[in-house]
Order: sequence, then C-alpha cells, then structure tokens
Amino acid sequence: NKNANRANTVAKIKVVVRKRPLNKKEIAKKEDDIITIEPNSNALTVHETKLKVDLTEYVEKHEFVFDAVLDEHVSNDEVYSETVEPIVPLIFQKTKATCFAYGQTGKHTSSPTLMFLEGFLESFIKLQWYKSFVGSGKTYTMQPLPLRASQDILRLMCHTYRNQGFQLYVSFFEIYGGKLFDLLNDRRNLCMREDGRKQVCIVGLQEYKVSDAETIRDLIEKGNATRSTGTTGANEESSRSHAILQLAIKRSADGSESKPLRLVGKLSFIDLAGSERGADTTDNDKQTRMEGAEINKSLLALKECIRALDNDQNHIPFRGSKLTEVLRDSFVGNSRTVMISCISPNSGSCEHTLNTLRYADRVK
Ligand code: ADP
Ligand code: MG
Repeated sequence: NKNANRANTVAKIKVVVRKRPLNKKEIAKKEDDIITIEPNSNALTVHETKLKVDLTEYVEKHEFVFDAVLDEHVSNDEVYSETVEPIVPLIFQKTKATCFAYGQTGKHTSSPTLMFLEGFLESFIKLQWYKSFVGSGKTYTMQPLPLRASQDILRLMCHTYRNQGFQLYVSFFEIYGGKLFDLLNDRRNLCMREDGRKQVCIVGLQEYKVSDAETIRDLIEKGNATRSTGTTGANEESSRSHAILQLAIKRSADGSESKPLRLVGKLSFIDLAGSERGADTTDNDKQTRMEGAEINKSLLALKECIRALDNDQNHIPFRGSKLTEVLRDSFVGNSRTVMISCISPNSGSCEHTLNTLRYADRVK
C-alpha cells in the first residue's frame, strides 16, 4: 500500500532549526551574525565571544546537528515543504500531528518614556540588561503554516478523498498563565475535562466547520488579532502565552451525513511562549513571576513528553502542565511531532540562542 509506505517514511519526531536574518537595528548597531550554516548541511555553528581572566576576548565554537537547518534565505514556503507538507496526508489516516515553534521572544519596553531613555542610554553605554531585543521568528514562521496546510487538506478532500464525507474544523485558543481562552470567541475562558475514555475535551471551545480557504484565512486573522491585543492591549502578552490552532478532520463511521461525526485526525500548530520567559521567575512583579514559572513548567513538560514519545515509552508525562494535558491525545497512538526552533543571529542574543539550541538538541 503506497500510502502506508509513505506514512512510514515520515519521521515520528523532526527537529528543525530556523535562523532569521539580522534586522536593521542590529545591523545599525554593528552586531555580528554569530551563526554559520554551510550550504546544504544540517549542522550549524554558534560563535560565542567570551572573555579571558585578563579581559581579552576569544571565540568559543558550538556545533549542533539537527534533522534540518534552515538559514536566513529560506522562505516560509520552503519551511512549509520541509516541515508540515509531508504530514498533511497522514491526518486522513488517523494521525495526530503537532508542529511547535520554539525560541526567544522579543522583549519590548512598554512605556514610551523608557523607550526613549533606552535608545538614549544604548547610544552611550552598553547596558546589557536594559536592551530591548527582537523575537527569533516564532510567529513569523508559524503564522502562514495553518493556512497552507488547510489549503492542502481541502485539495485532498476535493480530489483523493472526494465524496467520502470528510469535514474540516478549525479552532484556535491560547494558554495564558495556565488558563485557556478561546481566540475565536471573544477570549472566553474555557475549561478542560477528561471523559470516561480519558479523552481530553475543552468545554465550550468553538469549532468552525470550514470548506474554503478564505474563511480559514479570516478565522486565523481574527484569532491573531484577539491574541495580540489581549486584555491590556500590550503585545508583550502574546509572548507569555501559547497559541494553539487546530485543524481537525472528522467523518462519520460510514461517511454518510446522517451519522454522528468522529475525529479522524488532527493537526495542531503551536506558537509557544517565549522560551526566555520561563526565566522571568525573579521578576519584581508577582504576576510576571508566576507566569514565568508556569511557562518554565510547560516547556520542561513538553520536552519530557516529546522525549518519552521518541523512546516509545508507554508512560507519557503529560500531566506536567496545562499545555501537555491539552495535547494529551496528540501524544498517544499514531502521532507526528515537528519542532521548529527559531534563533536570532545577533551577538546580543547569543545566550538565548544557545539555550534554544540545547533545548532542541535534547528533544531530538
Ligand atoms: P517571535 O514571535 O519569536 O517573538 P517574530 O516572529 O515576531 O518573533 O519576529 C520578530 C521580527 O523579526 C518580526 O518583525 C519579523 O517580521 C521578523 N522576522 C522573523 N523571522 C524572519 C525571517 N525569517 N525573515 C525575515 N524577517 C523575519
Ligand atoms: Mg511571537
């Protein structure tokens, strides 16, 4: 069977690294690009500048190897072909697949006065802890993927699986401070329940039945807008939440419309909270500290679950966090996981970049 063969050739877990280009501000500040990637290779090198005891500088090289390494010239279309495209046909065959974007998030100073001061200070002294920095490209990478995938799903429904009764559903929610919010329904607070068969169910989550790409595009835009404005309207918030967009394929037992629909397969896209946010546990603000701890917990739990999956362990420690609990049914049975680790190339992000790569290395 051709399809089964194809299914077997798609790795259960794939870890991909994507490097973004230096931005204008980083170029203006004459920051170095510290990541080198040989053409057509799946390895990368980080050149870390360190200080000796006598304060002279030296460079330490760190080499990493992943399933794929995408440099700054790789387009979003190519990212799609490398990561999600091979998985799409599998979800018609009862696969639950998850695609994560992991990495450092931008840190922006919120008040205009501070922003002015920051620019002023930066031009004179290099105050490391006072720097704002740009994200590593998680949202940039993740945003176009669900639309591309749903176009392919709809195409398969029209051709290969024509008249077989498959339906496509979209839902979009976020986990913020350990709570769930529906991004397609006014950020309504949702709760999670486990049924008798240990299936997780998010009570009240809006699922939209879709049959054309335009509608999906609108829904994704709506969800993204709801996400980034949040409760205080600050962009800052989205970096501390995990956004989860799910495409579910359903069908009744015999494909007829009169019978109840059942879930066939699912594809989840997850724009994770900024990895460095887990370190916000020493912040002066209690709320920020708690959120930092929650993020830390969920990213650790996620890593543990993927590793358990990789080792074909029977026990998947999904209870470690809300994030992994929500993804519980995607970690059992026939699953596929793609982790896209996003990294910034600039010298100022070196520490975060190394942390991101070490996390990805352990997932691998
Ligand atoms: P994150 O979600 O990780 O905080 P973003 O996706 O918001 O980061 O990216 C930060 C900035 O860098 C944005 O302005 C984005 O447009 C830009 N950017 C990220 N990745 C790329 C890329 N591969 N090519 C060009 N610009 C990028
Ligand atoms: Mg983002």
